[in-house]
Amino acid sequence: MTTSRKIITVSPGRPASDGDGVKLTRLMGTPDIKHLDPFLLLDNFESDKPDDYIGGFPTHPHRGFETVTYLLAGRMRHKDNAGHEGVINPGDVQWMTAGRGILHSEMPEQQDGLLQGFQLWINLPAKDKMTAPRYQEYAAAHIPRETVAPGVEIKVISGTTDQGVEGIVRGIATAPLFLDITLTKGQPFSQQVPKSHNGFLYVIEGRVSVEGMELKERHLGILGTGDHVTLTAGAEGARVLLLAGQRIDEPIARSGPFVMNTEAELKQAYQDYRSGRFNGEDQWDY
Ligand code: MN
Repeated sequence: MTTSRKIITVSPGRPASDGDGVKLTRLMGTPDIKHLDPFLLLDNFESDKPDDYIGGFPTHPHRGFETVTYLLAGRMRHKDNAGHEGVINPGDVQWMTAGRGILHSEMPEQQDGLLQGFQLWINLPAKDKMTAPRYQEYAAAHIPRETVAPGVEIKVISGTTDQGVEGIVRGIATAPLFLDITLTKGQPFSQQVPKSHNGFLYVIEGRVSVEGMELKERHLGILGTGDHVTLTAGAEGARVLLLAGQRIDEPIARSGPFVMNTEAELKQAYQDYRSGRFNGEDQWDY
């Protein structure tokens, strides 16, 4: 028997500010939706006012999870303590496994114009929290695209579509599904989402209906249990992100840029950060 997932929680997110005064909409990681195992945070930044983004995200650490940047418009420069540097352009994805620790900055590579995109945090299981940092960075042109039907196009960032197209980001602990789906008016689209996974939708443009419930533009919809999801675009068509990830089911100890399992591990992270252990890649001895 198959069960189609329904939308069980809807949220437009909350206005928030992070980094050096970057204005954004926090869709997950708020009092409304604290997390959805394994997802910890989802930010949508979208502004053509330089004052909203020019401060960027100056040097800061991460430990114990992964950060995913998916840009729709504008350019962001990324630079870390290990000499890794690059520019993320529209349609590009950067999947950073912070693991035991990275110190980096994420700054707009533009003085004006639209900057639009997402940052998603995905937890790591205890056994991978102190893994070596790793990047998977891909330009838009290298992300597989699949045309399911006329007017239905999927950018396959991670996971495998029902047609068998595999995403470009691979080997991630939580076996995530990350699809950017464009639908024309009235067009249905169905995708398997394993029962082991929690999942959600975010509507970038237009609106979709899922099992008779409508999800509007710029709204997050958390999916209930089931083994697949079917979406149908409204009258203007739609562009939707479908995200799902395997539940980790471990305790979460979280403070700022560190997400561990216990308070003692959090304390250790702050100690390591203060004592400069995030500053060079050869200073680790665990
Ligand atoms: Mn960061």
